[in-house]
Amino acid sequence: MGTEGVDLLVSPLGAYWLIRLVTDKGRELASEDWTPARREHWSLAAEPVRSVAKQIQRAPVARDPAAMLERNFDSPVWDEVARRCLSCSICAYVCPSCSCFDVHHEGNAWGGREIRCWDACTFPLFTRHASGHNPRGGPDARYRQRLLHKFAYLAPEQPQGSIRCVGCGRCIAHCPAGIDIHDALGRISAAAEAGKADG
Ligand code: SF4
Ligand code: SF4
Repeated sequence: MGTEGVDLLVSPLGAYWLIRLVTDKGRELASEDWTPARREHWSLAAEPVRSVAKQIQRAPVARDPAAMLERNFDSPVWDEVARRCLSCSICAYVCPSCSCFDVHHEGNAWGGREIRCWDACTFPLFTRHASGHNPRGGPDARYRQRLLHKFAYLAPEQPQGSIRCVGCGRCIAHCPAGIDIHDALGRISAAAEAGKADG
């Protein structure tokens, strides 16, 4: 279980709580009245994790998705994968790990305000320059950016990286075009292995 950013990790165990003291601050919060946990308590607390792991039926599509995607930046398969994309950005709006935003300024002679709102790399205007040029002019380039952002540029192994896809499947369930991020990664990887792109 992840302990990043927490002082105490609390797991429900029936009528009790199992509390892991993660940091010094957490240890300061501990009470002498608490009963020390035994090995079977830790095993019980891990059961939900084991149960969820058993439900995962789709295997990873590449050992190193970042390297695979970066090598296949110019793959023709991006167009096949994203041809149906409507650029609606529902995939980003339902994603628990997407965080891109835009800032608007509204107002008149009497006052104004700055508004921060969601934005997404799958919108055509996301990267359009003031000149009208758009370096990601088609849905293939925009969908490629979405996957590379998640699995390469800001993947957990990168200096500023973190987990950008938790595998929840919300983008798959809500995409009106039926685009499946796992399937897309698989198609890029399979094409690379088959020599259609650079594996
Ligand atoms: S992948 Fe699907 S949900 Fe995302 S922008 Fe394209 S059509 Fe919309
Ligand atoms: S499967 Fe990944 S990309 Fe899709 S909504 Fe969940 S976290 Fe976001």
